[in-house]
Amino acid sequence: MVRLDTIETPAILLDRTVLERNIAAAADRAAAHGLQLRPHVKSHKSVAIARMQVAAGACGITVAKSSEAEVFIRGGIADITVAYPLIDPGKITRLLMLAKEHGTRLNLIVDSAVGVDAIGTAARDMAFETNLMVKVDVGLHRCGVDPSGDDAVTLARMIANRARLTFGGIISHAGHAYSAADRDAVVAIAREEQTIMRDVADRIAAAGMPVPCTSVGSTPTVWACDRYENTTEIRPGNYVFMDLVQASLGLITKADIALTVLATAVSCNDTHAIIDAGSKVLSSDRGPHGSARLTSYGLAVPVGTDHPGMPVVSLSEEHGFVAHGGQCPAIGDRLRIYPNHACPVVNLARAFQVIDENGKCELWPIDAHGTVF
Ligand code: PLP
Repeated sequence: MVRLDTIETPAILLDRTVLERNIAAAADRAAAHGLQLRPHVKSHKSVAIARMQVAAGACGITVAKSSEAEVFIRGGIADITVAYPLIDPGKITRLLMLAKEHGTRLNLIVDSAVGVDAIGTAARDMAFETNLMVKVDVGLHRCGVDPSGDDAVTLARMIANRARLTFGGIISHAGHAYSAADRDAVVAIAREEQTIMRDVADRIAAAGMPVPCTSVGSTPTVWACDRYENTTEIRPGNYVFMDLVQASLGLITKADIALTVLATAVSCNDTHAIIDAGSKVLSSDRGPHGSARLTSYGLAVPVGTDHPGMPVVSLSEEHGFVAHGGQCPAIGDRLRIYPNHACPVVNLARAFQVIDENGKCELWPIDAHGTVF
């Protein structure tokens, strides 16, 4: 049996109990508010975890890229939203062919006529019914139509008029909530998103097209809210792991963080313990969407202690610098690093070491490793 004290470092540790608790918390929240839950699996890239989410009540999953979708289609997930504006005919054709072969319900998104045309052409040529949602910009200013203009209605009509396309509703992502000052500011962003989405849905419906789904979601807006008006679906992703960024927004405590990096102190000097996890393991990410609330690269807690944590103050590729404040861990000591942002850490790795409540570890593959295209 593999145990925590025998696994080689650095390793991505996943506390199974906390993971299951986080999965259940989102499912309970969705059920309590009569919402569909469609978790974003870019956070974990694991077919096993996606299946746990579906078993807990998720209606399907969200992915970021077409290559990521392909892994989960092959993994047997039956209902997938690709929340990314696909415009490349080659990628779209490959994705639709695979979805057709596996009988997967596919929901794609657009924010341009170029997208409707590319997806509509592939769906028609392949005779594959595809749901197409219109992406609305609710303040992140990344992708999405301007909600104050007519583009949402125009695109919905274009979709409704194309053979093999079904207008699937509207979708948004308030990622700017990561830069909010505190929990109350996150709630204000979520409320604003709900108002914008209601207004867009009303205008599309008034133009004669029913809006079957209004999909919103980020972990902060979903976790901070106690009311989800004008919403039928939520798409949190990071919540399965949580991380220091979510804690810094006042949404969780360290006890809710399922993912840590197990590292070893390999050297020590007057100011820093040097650990065997650098930017190639922890990533250099201080937070999603450039949020700069956190100034270090994680918190290092010696294994088996309730130490409040020492900051990982800088990184080279294979080394992390832990400021020990005069009390250096011994060389060979193991530390658990709580990451700022769990998702990029997973993106760099190939497997999780999943620990159960008895300290037994099991290796789970990160199936969609490298699916960035
Ligand atoms: N939906 C979209 C379109 C996203 O880009 C993301 C995250 O990047 C999410 C949902 C999930 O957000 P989070 O990881 O904050 O839960």
